[in-house]
Amino acid sequence: MAKIQAHYDGAVIGGGIAGMQAALDLAGQGFRVLLVEREPSIGGIMVGLNKVFPTLDCSSCICTPRMAEAAHHERIDLLTYTEVEEVRRTDGHFTLRLLKKPRYVVEEDCIGCGKCEQACDWFVPHEFDYGLGARKAIYIPHGNAIPQLPVLDPEHCMFDGACARVCPKNCIDFLQQPERLEVKAGSVIIATGLKLTPMEAKKEYGGGRYANVISPLLMERMQSSNGPTGHVMRPSDGRIPRSVAYVQCAGSRDRTIGVPYCSRVCCMYALKQAILIRQHHPGTEVTLYYMDIRAFGKGYEQFFRRALAEGVRVVKAKVGRITEEPDGDLVLRVELIDEGGRVAEIRHDLVVLSQGLIPAWRPVGIVPARLDEDGFFEVPEVTTRPANSSVDGIFVAGVATGPKDIPDSIVEAGAAAMEAAMYLDRISRVEAEEAAMSEVSND
Ligand SMILES: Cc1cc2nc3c(=O)[nH]c(=O)nc-3n(C[C@H](O)[C@H](O)[C@H](O)COP(=O)(O)OP(=O)(O)OC[C@H]3O[C@@H](n4cnc5c(N)ncnc54)[C@H](O)[C@@H]3O)c2cc1C
Repeated sequence: MAKIQAHYDGAVIGGGIAGMQAALDLAGQGFRVLLVEREPSIGGIMVGLNKVFPTLDCSSCICTPRMAEAAHHERIDLLTYTEVEEVRRTDGHFTLRLLKKPRYVVEEDCIGCGKCEQACDWFVPHEFDYGLGARKAIYIPHGNAIPQLPVLDPEHCMFDGACARVCPKNCIDFLQQPERLEVKAGSVIIATGLKLTPMEAKKEYGGGRYANVISPLLMERMQSSNGPTGHVMRPSDGRIPRSVAYVQCAGSRDRTIGVPYCSRVCCMYALKQAILIRQHHPGTEVTLYYMDIRAFGKGYEQFFRRALAEGVRVVKAKVGRITEEPDGDLVLRVELIDEGGRVAEIRHDLVVLSQGLIPAWRPVGIVPARLDEDGFFEVPEVTTRPANSSVDGIFVAGVATGPKDIPDSIVEAGAAAMEAAMYLDRISRVEAEEAAMSEVSND
């Protein structure tokens, strides 16, 4: 574990692209920063993506240098696999109560050689590949993980000691316990990001029940060159699909599932994945069933036009129901809006549900900053101070405040770091003035 100080200028909660950028920008201005991530590696959603819209640049090629920079910055201390149990305001600063979860590996001694992983005989579906690939019971989270340290999963470990026997540094510790830490910080930046609406949220689509109805994050991993398959395939039989359907708004703009808002990035990630499917498998048809195409960012409308030019079909339709055929194909019952509401049944062999974005962390009663009615962090002055929470000294960035893409998350992270720097400067000037006043009155 990194050597942790008792006091930091800033604590950043969440090590996705927004949190890393905020930590780097604050540290770049000379402040000492603690970056806290609850997973065993930093990187958030971005490190698992294949390519990014609208440029189709490799996602991990952009993300991993930032991960390395954040982890090795001289003014940033990194705490991974750590939960934030409480943030409270205590005379002029914030106190964070943290729970460092056991990796069952002595972090300071481990050299990340991976021998423990190789020696382990137990395979488990890999969370990073959304269950399609496998990992061991002791494993380095993925090839680009930072830190490159293994974590032991006690639920699947047989405790046969195979990993401990091969460890050259003797650093497997089956008895490691959770560790409680308390640190103080002058300011806090919350960048805890997103998770997707559950696959099962719309029961009529069969998500979680039908093997060939999949999540867009699984599609990202299948399309990644370092993913579990290296190409798009049907989970049921491993076949390259001939016709793929995207169901848009399959977890957004829907009051019945408690997500009334637009998740902003789904049209774009679906178009991106569709273009890439067409490039890799030109014989495969891709159809997006959509209500509106929201291509809101710089170059995004052009990206939509490019998708059409590259043969992606878009159909304005409402998907009412999906049923599964015995061979694993899916039949979509759709209301074709441009055909006067005609109802049709259309067969595809793979369906991607464009799930919506919801907050990954909804702390109630343990963080003084308020949440909005959708569970994201409230931004009271959203037009003029988009990185300020409801509490002076706590700033927010990325999807923690609402759905957004990577460029907007990075811009907001910069704004949060700048607001935190100005806040710290203001606080230290007030403290200096108060100290000077009390010296005068003592004289
Ligand atoms: C399928 C899909 C494809 C996408 N493709 C693109 C694309 O091509 N281009 C683009 O611009 N955008 C894309 N996006 C959007 C992009 O993923 C987000 O904009 C970006 O990940 C937001 O970054 P973030 O740091 O706010 O959140 P995240 O990436 O979610 O990072 C948040 C981090 O905080 C950690 N965390 C959460 N809670 C806590 C806690 N309590 N304590 C400590 N740590 C915590 C998480 O573990 C995570 O590491 C896509 C999204 C999806 C779902």
